[in-house]
Amino acid sequence: MVANELTFLVIEDDDFQREVIVDILGRLGSKNIQEARTGTEALNILKDSTLSSIDIILCDLNMPEMDGMEFLRHIGNSHSSIATIIMSALDGALIESVRKMASAYGIYLLGAIEKPITPAQLEALFSIYKSRESKQKQEFKHGSLFTLGEILEGLTNGDFVPFFQPKIHLATGKLIGAEALARWRHPQRGVIAPYAFIDLLEKSGHIDILTFTMLEQSAKACKLIHEKGHEISISVNLSLTSLADIKLADKITHIVLESGVNPKFIILEITETAAMTDMAPALENLARLRMKGFGLSIDDYGTGYSSMQQISRIAFTELKIDQSFVREMTTSNVSKVLINSSIEMATKLQMKCTAEGIETKNDWEQLKSMNCELGQGYYIAKPMSLDEFLKFCEQNLN
Ligand code: C2E
Ligand code: MG
Ligand code: MG
Repeated sequence: MVANELTFLVIEDDDFQREVIVDILGRLGSKNIQEARTGTEALNILKDSTLSSIDIILCDLNMPEMDGMEFLRHIGNSHSSIATIIMSALDGALIESVRKMASAYGIYLLGAIEKPITPAQLEALFSIYKSRESKQKQEFKHGSLFTLGEILEGLTNGDFVPFFQPKIHLATGKLIGAEALARWRHPQRGVIAPYAFIDLLEKSGHIDILTFTMLEQSAKACKLIHEKGHEISISVNLSLTSLADIKLADKITHIVLESGVNPKFIILEITETAAMTDMAPALENLARLRMKGFGLSIDDYGTGYSSMQQISRIAFTELKIDQSFVREMTTSNVSKVLINSSIEMATKLQMKCTAEGIETKNDWEQLKSMNCELGQGYYIAKPMSLDEFLKFCEQNLN
C-alpha cells in the first residue's frame, strides 16, 4: 500500500513536530492529511462523517488534556477498524506497554515507533497496512462463514489436507524440514486457511479429528519424502486442549509408527494460548511423547501465557519465535531484544531456535547475524501442497 492512496490523521500537540510529520507524509506522496492538536479535536474529526474516511491515525502519547492512552481507549471503543500508529519520545519499554494495551482494546495497531520519526519507519509500517475493506473481506471470508456442521462434513469427506512450508538452516539455506499447516480444500470455495475452522473445532471439542488426520497425512508424506531421498523432519501443530486426553501420546505414537516413520522425524508444535487449569495430564503426555522420540516445539514463543514456566517444566527441543517479533524487528527495539534473548536462551538450553515470518532478505540476514539457527517465512517459500513440496525438495537437493 502506498501513502498517496491513504488518508491520514496526525494527532500531535507540538506544532513543530506535527509539521515535521505532515511534511514527511507529504514527501511520501500523501495528499490527504488531517491534523489535530488534541485527542478531543481528533475525536471530533472522526465523528464528522464527511471526514471519516481516515485510514491511518498517527498518535502522540504524551499530550495535555487527553493523553494518548485515553485517546486509544476511545478508538478501541468506536473506531477500532482504523489503523493506528503510536509515536512517542518515551522509552521503548513504555511504548511496548502501550502497544500491549492497544491490542487489549482491540485496536488495529500498525506499530509503535520512537521519535524522531523517519520516513523509512513510516514506509515500513505502511507496507504492512491492509485496507479496512480488504481486512473486513478477509474477516468475512475467514470468520463466521462456516458452521461447525459444514466443517465436520468437510473433515468426514477428507477435504482437509496438510500444506507444507519449508524450514531452512539460515546459515546455509539448506532445507531441514517443513511445517504441516491445515488447509481445507473446499469443493466450492477453494483453499481455506486455518483461522476459518480451528477456533470452532477447539471450542466445540472436535479438534482431535483434525489433529489425527493432519498427523496421519503428514506422517505418510514424511515417509514418501524420505523414500525420495530427503531425510527431513515434519512439524505438526497440536492444540493444547488435546493434551488433556491422557491417551493422546499413545494415539499419536500409534499413528506415526503405523506409517513407518521414526518419531524422531516428527516435531509437535504447541502454542500456549491460555492458562491450563489442569497441567498434569498435559505434562504426562508431553513427557511420554518426548520419551518416544518426538521433537517438541514451543510455537509462537513470546505471545503465550507463561512461556518461561513451560520451558522449565518440559524438555522442549525447539523454540519458535513468533512472527510478530520478526515483523517488528527493524522498528521495535523491544522486539529485537526479545529475539536476541530467545535465541540466547534456546542455545543455552540446547534447543533449536526457529524464526517465523521471514519476509525479506533483510529479515534473513539479520536473524542469521543474530545466530538464529533455523527459519521459515514467505521469503523462503509459502505453504504448498505435497506435490509442490516434493518439487521444492528436488530443487533444493541436499
Ligand atoms: P503457526 O503454527 O504459527 O503457523 C505459522 C503461520 O504463519 C501459518 O499460517 C503460515 O502460513 C504463516 N506464515 C508463514 N510464513 C509467513 C510469513 O512470512 N509472513 C506471514 N505473514 N505469515 C507467514 P496459517 O497456515 O494460516 O496457520 C495459522 C495457525 O493455525 C498456525 O500458526 C497454527 O497455530 C494453526 N494451525 C495450522 N494448522 C493447524 C493444525 O493442523 N492443527 C492445529 N491445532 N492448529 C493449526
Ligand atoms: Mg506452528
Ligand atoms: Mg507460530
